[in-house]
Amino acid sequence: MDELSELMPRPPLQVSCKFSELPRELRQELEDIVQNQNDIYPCFMEMESHLQSALRCDVRPNLSVLCSPEHLIAGLARQKSTGARWGFSNADVDHPDTKRGWCAATYKLNNKYILWHETLHVLGADDCHEGDKNSGPTCRCGNCIMQYVPTPQTVGAWPFLCQENMDRIKRRATPQ
Ligand SMILES: [Zn+2]
Ligand SMILES: [Zn+2]
Repeated sequence: MDELSELMPRPPLQVSCKFSELPRELRQELEDIVQNQNDIYPCFMEMESHLQSALRCDVRPNLSVLCSPEHLIAGLARQKSTGARWGFSNADVDHPDTKRGWCAATYKLNNKYILWHETLHVLGADDCHEGDKNSGPTCRCGNCIMQYVPTPQTVGAWPFLCQENMDRIKRRATPQ
């Protein structure tokens, strides 16, 4: 994640962001929430609101979870969407309340591009694929990381985001 936070401030995106790891006790509290949920959306919402009060933020924080494919949260995500083979986010759901946080889970451990793809959803990017049928990229950026299976071969060097997604991230990064 340090690498992604070094890339994003570079042209053409030029958005700075900082990712920080949650303290161990907070991770355990989120783990407990997951164990008591059987639907991914309420699970995400409860994790976000728990973090908001624990971290005393004004707005719901953004959360990107990395876990094993056997973890319960990965099961809840796959249950919601069969196309979500490696990761899932609630960013593609319409958010009438812009103060609501966004959350993602990645359960593929040896491909940083999948983790970045899911994390970029949390920062405002949309998919550039249609389910797993049209795996994309469906945008005009041949190496866009928002395609279905981003890998070192298909994504490569920065910049790896289409203009549309850079605009979305910039919009979200700029307070209204
Ligand atoms: Zn996606
Ligand atoms: Zn794209």
